[in-house]
Amino acid sequence: MSLLTRLLFPPKCSACGEILDWYEEKDRPKALCSDCMKQWENEKLDVCGSCGKRVTACECVTEELQRARCATFRKLVFYRHGKGERVQNRLIFHIKKKGDRQTVGFLAEELLPALQTLSDGAKAPVLTYVPRSLGARLEYGVDQARELANALSTLSGIPCRRLLTRNIGRRPSQKGLSAEERVRNAKRTFRLCKNVVLRGKRVILVDDIVTTGATAAACVRLLRRAGALEVFCLAPASDDVNQN
Ligand SMILES: [Zn+2]
Ligand SMILES: [Zn+2]
Repeated sequence: MSLLTRLLFPPKCSACGEILDWYEEKDRPKALCSDCMKQWENEKLDVCGSCGKRVTACECVTEELQRARCATFRKLVFYRHGKGERVQNRLIFHIKKKGDRQTVGFLAEELLPALQTLSDGAKAPVLTYVPRSLGARLEYGVDQARELANALSTLSGIPCRRLLTRNIGRRPSQKGLSAEERVRNAKRTFRLCKNVVLRGKRVILVDDIVTTGATAAACVRLLRRAGALEVFCLAPASDDVNQN
């Protein structure tokens, strides 16, 4: 970044909005100030209530994902609802509501090691994402899971393909629905894109946040129906599987 650009548009911390210090931007722009970075690293030390591993190493899937026969789900942090002060809540908010590129790039780099583990040993793995609804895309001008998957594709060299689409017509948002309603609603929401054949492939499904996993599970089922041998999930944040 040139000096002039930096003076005119100083990069700000994705979480607290503070202008980033010079030293925080040596090789590449960082997304977080040092205080928020410390907090974020702390949040990644959370331990899964199910397997006892650190959240970044936990591969536990939610019940819904289990039912869809998804064996592995990697994440960076456990989302703690109503804790607006947490760095992760702010980052997720920024990619959802503002499509903030700096934050997307940061989360993609953070997710890269997990993606490498998930794609390890697969012949020609494919990245895809849970497509956002048209309404939300128009409202916020961004499809955050697609942005994230594309950024991961650039970093890893694994191709990102659009494999899923949403059925036309308004579907209620998953928010506020019961577990059963979520599953039913999610099943009706998505379909495969035309001519999708995934025979024998490993697909890595990216979303911004997985809560009950009903949405991701509906997508996993469709991808398996198209012949995918395995579907793994990857998201920056998730509910603690043990709290579901
Ligand atoms: Zn900050
Ligand atoms: Zn776990």
